[in-house]
Amino acid sequence: QGTLMQGKKGLIMGVANDHSIAWAIARAVAAQGGELAFTYQGEALGKRLRPLAESVGSQLVLPCDVSDEAAIDAVFERLEKEWGELDFVVHAIGWADKKYLRGRYVDTPREAFLTAIDISCFSFTAVAQRASRLMKKGGSLLTLSYLGAERVMPHYNVMGVAKAALEASVRYMAADLGADGIRVNAVSAGPIKTLAASGIGDFRYILKWNQHNSPLERNVSLDDVGGAGLYMLSDLSAGVTGEVHHVDCGYHIVGMKNPSAPDI
Ligand code: NAD
Repeated sequence: QGTLMQGKKGLIMGVANDHSIAWAIARAVAAQGGELAFTYQGEALGKRLRPLAESVGSQLVLPCDVSDEAAIDAVFERLEKEWGELDFVVHAIGWADKKYLRGRYVDTPREAFLTAIDISCFSFTAVAQRASRLMKKGGSLLTLSYLGAERVMPHYNVMGVAKAALEASVRYMAADLGADGIRVNAVSAGPIKTLAASGIGDFRYILKWNQHNSPLERNVSLDDVGGAGLYMLSDLSAGVTGEVHHVDCGYHIVGMKNPSAPDI
């Protein structure tokens, strides 16, 4: 048990189960003394989340579908009542209709595009609007992205476009909120087998490809991303804002297939 996050209070959004990236970050923060609140989408996930939250000493487990402005308001009103102030938020939320996470991006209908960008990008801005008001001594806002924002990845499609907008929003909000001592960053994680990832076509192939072609010749673990999340939320990253930090075993630097990788 360390003390890096001692005295800091924060909100974790996006734990669906114990394989969620949000949960990996929550565990890392709790192990350093951070105090946590959680949100979930729908009662079924709430049921799964409560025992996890309790295991890290949190009783603050609140419903929040991020497509609903009133639901986001309710979360931050409750946090203001309970804590008065806030030090950090993790936004680990993304969604697109899986019908469009295969085939061609160019075929994405308007409705699917707007929903993907609303849930996966605008929600972080909506959260930042409320959270920043409670960050009276400065703070750290963190979201999760993927390399599909920067390069074309098979099947990532509309999610890649939404993540590109999300990464741009990280930079704009970092500029807006910097004067208040609020930092805004993203971790761009390598592929991890989570509930959200299971919606992406050929995900097992993507995992194998990354494993064999990353400089570290493996896939990232949940703990790798948890540790990077802890860094971004703690004062260790006090001088870092507007950054998209790759935690992908180095895959983003690679220009072509590793010649000694096996055929997959
Ligand atoms: P996950 O399924 O565990 O988490 C996704 C979360 O998004 C779930 O908790 C779900 O309830 C939540 N969510 C979806 N729609 C919502 C809504 N309308 N309101 C509130 N919550 C909603 O999967 P994960 O892989 O841990 O995903 C977390 C983040 O990490 C996502 O932004 C994802 O795009 C990103 N990411 C994942 C990978 C990967 O390979 N798993 C890689 C890079 C980035």
